[in-house]
Amino acid sequence: MENPVKLTRRHPLRYPPYSLVRFFKVSGDTPLYKASPAGKPRSARNALEEAAKLHGKFTCYYGVKCREPGANRMPTIDHLVAQAKSGSEGLCNLRMACHACNSDKRDQDARRYRLRNRIPRRTKRY
Ligand SMILES: [Zn+2]
Repeated sequence: MENPVKLTRRHPLRYPPYSLVRFFKVSGDTPLYKASPAGKPRSARNALEEAAKLHGKFTCYYGVKCREPGANRMPTIDHLVAQAKSGSEGLCNLRMACHACNSDKRDQDARRYRLRNRIPRRTKRY
């Protein structure tokens, strides 16, 4: 029987829901993650979605368009570097963002989007 790799690698953000995701093991070339001790090993995206459900609260990573009245605040998974620009499906490239901000950002890099909208660097609101 294969020994599971220690649950060491975490998401770079220390705030929930990111902090609830832990590296589990590698299956072939694919790293797997767990969102809770009892959870099944999953892909980074699925583990982050699971962690967000466990956390119960949702805060948009950008907080631009969701401030506008009537905005679609449905939680989505955003890629810092868009998939269209070969951004990875890895945990480091994933953030929770509302539907409105995510569709406004489209395939721009998060850094560029942040500068354009004068979003300050990460604060403790996550
Ligand atoms: Zn938002």
